[in-house]
Amino acid sequence: MTPTRIVSVTYQPLDLDLKEPFAIATGTQYQVENVLIRVELADGTVGLGEAAPFPAVNGETQTSTLGALVVLETHLVNQDVREWRTLAKNLDEIAHEAPSARCGLEMAMLDALCQHYNMPLYVFFGGVGTELETDLTITAGDEAHAVASAKSIMDRGFSTIKVKTEGVDVDYDFRRIQAIHSAAPGANLIIDGNCGYDLARAQDFVHRLQVAQIPVVLLEQPLPREDWEDLQLLATASPFPIAADESARNGSDVIRLAHDQSAAVVNIKLMKCGVLEALEMVSLAKAYNLRLMIGGMVESILAMSFSAHFAAGLGGFDFVDLDTPLFIASHPFTGGFAQNGPHLTLDLDAPGHGVKLG
Ligand SMILES: [Mg+2]
Repeated sequence: MTPTRIVSVTYQPLDLDLKEPFAIATGTQYQVENVLIRVELADGTVGLGEAAPFPAVNGETQTSTLGALVVLETHLVNQDVREWRTLAKNLDEIAHEAPSARCGLEMAMLDALCQHYNMPLYVFFGGVGTELETDLTITAGDEAHAVASAKSIMDRGFSTIKVKTEGVDVDYDFRRIQAIHSAAPGANLIIDGNCGYDLARAQDFVHRLQVAQIPVVLLEQPLPREDWEDLQLLATASPFPIAADESARNGSDVIRLAHDQSAAVVNIKLMKCGVLEALEMVSLAKAYNLRLMIGGMVESILAMSFSAHFAAGLGGFDFVDLDTPLFIASHPFTGGFAQNGPHLTLDLDAPGHGVKLG
């Protein structure tokens, strides 16, 4: 008997309440409707993974993810988890359009693999580091909500605030950013447009931010994914570095962004493409001298601990946006990274990602 053979793959809805709705330009999430995935090996090792479909970002839902898993599990049972790279590639060929389902399976497989060899995931990914400093997000909303959130974020010791904007009314967005800057003058700002602007509105917005000397460290995904030429025009003249998120779903996207010089930073999110493709994106970004950001969908401590191991273990991530566990009211897990304000610290000894049920 091969101890690393996968004997079962099970999955169930992971429904979690949010402390406040998570609003971005393209839609609002009122409850977390993710999927918990469990991969068991012949030696009894159980690895856990989480799929986080975010309908407003990638069109995936909990229902579509559960449907994809019905198909994908049959391709994993009886396979040897030591061959995870081959297995992950197969999953991609079978269900390319279900990245969060594939990602959750990869997470569970790698958690099981590392537990079997008694190795923390950050060591598996390279062992470069064990600590990260994250930003904290102000979701889309009104000015009063933004000001109250900005003050609270600074009180909690964060130095970088990420702000979601709507992109419809530049005047409104600009006044809201000004209000946040006034409430938290020491904070570095990452502004995330989530595809909400067109070129003219984005140029207007950038110009006003520049004139007002707002400390914008990153302007993330101002334009829709398909507006490649406009993004290039915007980036060429932008005083702020542009980060690609929705425009960076795979390695080919990274190459295009680098060739076009339309982004200086790539936001890596495992849910967009799975772990295997994310590793390709990281390598390509480094080769093309693009800087790296680690982010996520609305994910619990489970998926976010995996991403923290990924980013800290590989090293070289200058921007960290792993804050959504702070938006979740309660969850059924123990373990994972410890958080003190913006500081995330991995468990140095726990094998895998270190997150357990109960
Ligand atoms: Mg984003």
